[in-house]
Amino acid sequence: MKRNESFKKLSEDDLSYFKSVLAPHSITQDEEDLEAFNTDWLRKYKGQSKLVLKPSSTEQVSKILKYCNDNKLAVVPQGGNTGLVGGSVPVFDEIIISMSNMSSIRKFDNVSGALVLPDGTILDNLSTLRKDNTGYDLKQIFVGSEGTLGIVTGVSFLAPKKSKAVNVALLGLNSYDHVQAAFKRSKEELSEVLSAFEFWDQDALKLVKDHLAAGANDPLQSTYPFYVLIETSGSNKDHDDEKLNNFLERLLTDNITQDGVVAQDTTQLRNLWAIREGIPVACLHDGAVYKYDISIPVPVIYQAVEELRKRLLDRGVLGEGKLFTSVIGYGHIGDGNLHLTLAAKEFCEEATDLIEPYIFEWTAKHAGSISAEHGLGICKNNFLSYSKSSSMIQLMKRFKQLLDPNGIMNPYKFLPDN
Ligand SMILES: Cc1cc2nc3c(=O)[nH]c(=O)nc-3n(C[C@H](O)[C@H](O)[C@H](O)COP(=O)(O)OP(=O)(O)OC[C@H]3O[C@@H](n4cnc5c(N)ncnc54)[C@H](O)[C@@H]3O)c2cc1C
Repeated sequence: MKRNESFKKLSEDDLSYFKSVLAPHSITQDEEDLEAFNTDWLRKYKGQSKLVLKPSSTEQVSKILKYCNDNKLAVVPQGGNTGLVGGSVPVFDEIIISMSNMSSIRKFDNVSGALVLPDGTILDNLSTLRKDNTGYDLKQIFVGSEGTLGIVTGVSFLAPKKSKAVNVALLGLNSYDHVQAAFKRSKEELSEVLSAFEFWDQDALKLVKDHLAAGANDPLQSTYPFYVLIETSGSNKDHDDEKLNNFLERLLTDNITQDGVVAQDTTQLRNLWAIREGIPVACLHDGAVYKYDISIPVPVIYQAVEELRKRLLDRGVLGEGKLFTSVIGYGHIGDGNLHLTLAAKEFCEEATDLIEPYIFEWTAKHAGSISAEHGLGICKNNFLSYSKSSSMIQLMKRFKQLLDPNGIMNPYKFLPDN
């Protein structure tokens, strides 16, 4: 990929302007400090930005964007920089606009949101109304646009009330069929209190045990091919306890699960979640991580893992000391969302070519989405056609052209190159 030479290179005049808008501590140029902003969470993508700007008000964001747009300086909006598709770091020398100084809670209410467009226009969508059926719902165009249309400087969301009673159980199961059976039963029997149904396979647990302290939290006596974490959230502890315990007893009696524990206090509850939440972190320890976040119908979720594993085993590239060290599956069964993850020695073309576009073709064949949660970034933009028709992609390109005619917002990403 080549730098788009229609973008201006940063000059002393540009720096003088930014210094007139922001306080000195809101401008980062030091090479060592820039490193973290230029590198993504997976350490797969690395940009070469020489400047990070940290505005602390919508007006500052507006001034910066207007200047960048007028001068054709490309920018990358960046939040916590924990995205997993390389969307939050520059590809070349784009200016990073870090939103780290704009994290304050303005009001505790079901409040507001504001957008800033590349030309500096501020779109105020600060409505507290639950119903407002007037005109196009413009904010929806920006949701999931990954910084390619404008910068979000404030959001409002309805926070549900914290549940009075939360329970967590961990189960060990012998097959993915059993995982599905447990899921079906949980929807029938736990219904209104079921708040999470997560699964992972034994290779995922092995990574957590090998690399993280959370691995010691596994309370089950044996190793199982699959694990399920069930969370219930309700308002009546006695009622929820009874419901969950009866449900678990029936699963054991019917041989759907082989083993299970219920957290007895908040510490145990957190420890069980720590196993699940440790999986993406544990994957990083082998060197490089190839992460695929697909949504597919629940019955075929684990087939994706098995078929990819077989493909790599057949080619002799999976195992100790090989190109790939493990292929694991975990995710949110209730959403049909699989995190298919490969631990590898390093990122290289040979490894990528063994997985892509194979996994996207497989997903499209099973009527799935190539990105359930993580977005497109620079990782999947050129595979968008596996999930969206060409007429939809053309319409997306027209929106982009309309709102960002100079293409300065997070270039080289999100939409296909051609
Ligand atoms: C350990 C781990 C677990 C995760 N688990 C989940 C999970 O369970 N579910 C899930 O959905 N995701 C999960 N993710 C991925 C998740 O999508 C990101 O971590 C998170 O949502 C990104 O937020 P961020 O502020 O770090 O955004 P960044 O990584 O900084 O940016 C992400 C994208 O948004 C754009 N952007 C950032 N801020 C703005 C802004 N103010 N205006 C416009 N554009 C902006 C960036 O340009 C980039 O394209 C996980 C990630 C990690 C590392």
